[in-house]
Amino acid sequence: MLNLVLFGKPGSGKGTQANFLKDKYDLIHISTGDVFRKNIKNQTELGVKAQGYTQNGELVPDDVTVSMLENEIKQNLPCNGFVFDGFPRTLNQADEMNKILLKYKMELSAIVALEVDDDLLTDRLLKRGLISGRSDDQSREKILTRLYEYRNKTEPLIDYYSKINRFYSVSGVGEINEISSRLLDLIESVR
Ligand code: AMP
Repeated sequence: MLNLVLFGKPGSGKGTQANFLKDKYDLIHISTGDVFRKNIKNQTELGVKAQGYTQNGELVPDDVTVSMLENEIKQNLPCNGFVFDGFPRTLNQADEMNKILLKYKMELSAIVALEVDDDLLTDRLLKRGLISGRSDDQSREKILTRLYEYRNKTEPLIDYYSKINRFYSVSGVGEINEISSRLLDLIESVR
């Protein structure tokens, strides 16, 4: 199996590149943000729990997010592998993910961070908000909250994963296909 975690700030291009990798390697793409948005739209029990957090740009509590992730994995096994987009986002989620991976006899092949600086991200997100209609992309304040959540809760994962020697960082600046080919080079070199 090829199991990849795409890691990076909001707007760093995780979704776009995860889609590319999904097609390239025939993987299942799990975007926790997309799963939440779909559930919020359909007003499921999960959607109702996540709604307030997601709309404010805050992280959804770990217990809700982790059980949702396990369900998504379970539903899609067996498969060639997964590209996880937007999970894990806290140290606790990473610990819980390890337990789930162990349970299903899976391993992470690589954790890849897409690096983009904050000014460029804010511009990208505000532009995306015009097209996507996502409420959390449309206000500078919500974008700041998301970047703040990232810095406080998600960034510590870089240290966490650096210790297991599967953490790689790739520049997320440039044309989409340039970034995809950087990712491909990296994945080919580690798989
Ligand atoms: P994204 O589409 O990845 O930017 O995620 C949109 C929103 O979904 C985030 O701002 C959070 O409210 C929620 N979300 C997505 N993934 C997670 C996660 N791993 N943990 C907690 N909340 C999440």
